[in-house]
Amino acid sequence: MTDLLNRVQLNTPEHKLVKEGIISDYLNHIMKDNADNSEGQTAQYISALRDADPEPFATALCTLDGRIYSAALGGTFNDAGVAADQVEFTIQSISKPFVYALALQEHGIDELVKVVGMEPSGEAFNELSLEGDTNRPVNPMINAGAITVNQLINGSESTVEDRVAKIHSFMNQLAGRELTLDKKTAESEMESSDRNLALAHMLRSYHIIQDQAEDAVNSYVQQCSILVTVRDLAVMGATLASGGVQPLTGRRVMDQSVARQVQSVMASAGMYNAAGRWMASVGIPAKSGVAGGVLGTLPGQLGLSSFSPKLDEHGNSVRGVRVFQRLSNDMGLHLMAPDPRGRASVRSLTEDSHTDETIVRLQGDIDFIGGERLYRTLSEHELKHKKLVFDMTRVDGVNPVGCRMLNNGIEQLREEGYEVRIEDPEGWLKLKDAYLAGDGV
Ligand code: GLN
Repeated sequence: MTDLLNRVQLNTPEHKLVKEGIISDYLNHIMKDNADNSEGQTAQYISALRDADPEPFATALCTLDGRIYSAALGGTFNDAGVAADQVEFTIQSISKPFVYALALQEHGIDELVKVVGMEPSGEAFNELSLEGDTNRPVNPMINAGAITVNQLINGSESTVEDRVAKIHSFMNQLAGRELTLDKKTAESEMESSDRNLALAHMLRSYHIIQDQAEDAVNSYVQQCSILVTVRDLAVMGATLASGGVQPLTGRRVMDQSVARQVQSVMASAGMYNAAGRWMASVGIPAKSGVAGGVLGTLPGQLGLSSFSPKLDEHGNSVRGVRVFQRLSNDMGLHLMAPDPRGRASVRSLTEDSHTDETIVRLQGDIDFIGGERLYRTLSEHELKHKKLVFDMTRVDGVNPVGCRMLNNGIEQLREEGYEVRIEDPEGWLKLKDAYLAGDGV
């Protein structure tokens, strides 16, 4: 597994050639453009957040091979002399996708859908709403769903302490470091938790959760009070984007199917009643928190994050939303506007009359579209020789579908009497065995 990962990592762009400054400078630049925006206010209903410094402004990116770029606006320092990209803030609702991941990992999707749905609610994060016929919360990103999911961790008999400890330890694995739980913020939120308590009572009355309402909210509020920096969030986002492999430690912390499920729900419900507009204008699965953090994941590419505490009427960071819009536009990150891929998987097809061989040179990433292009090229071309060479020296990556298509195609050609030779120094075709073993690199 690690060997395969290393190989995949070797094929990512050579980041050492990129001057780190260029990317961090760019992040700084887009923050400067939004620095004058003083709209919104800190979360008023939690005293610890209401009184927080509203000024820190930071952004971070993390690639799937663990390179982190971060920028703090003009090197802003808080009273303690800490730059904004090192400032810790409570994760709040950004914990929801990760605790959902942990619950999926512990119980599987079939158990989860019994108690929480996956439809966007179109409602505020703390709305008192349940699905009409099943009484389930509609998704795990709104508070009703998140309280329900929290209760699944460590089984229904768990104490609050053990449940929180399990969540905390999972968050540590995701961030790749020991995170702190901010008891003060948790306590201050408990003082104004009428709404979440109402939700918990409602969930209990429908037997969706079993614990006492007070305990359920206490456990959920603690999960929200884990301290992170923008850099942590970017790494945690990259873990989802990579399909579950933590980019700094190289450890698989969740199954690929779990990462897929979590990001799908983030895409449709992560930004609450602004989710539709967010998807259209930014096009990145995301989750916001009322302490001012925003987390984004670009599947297969990046984790992104921002921090700025003043919120809009949906509870999303005002400057964070702007920064994501800029990043998405400037860097072409919108999921629905990808560059065409795999078009040029066949670099050349040459008939060599000296060696009596047909040489097919492949390149780039071979996925379904790449495989289709190869099949089409072979079927449209009248092969002159019975000897075929597939040269894969310039292939950068092969996904499970591309791998299967290549192997099946080669097998078929051999059955048809072709003598097929493969030049595959990176061993891409051998990934078939790993893919079959469900290793899902
Ligand atoms: N702890 C917060 C709450 O339940 C989290 C809300 C949020 O970040 N949107 O109200």
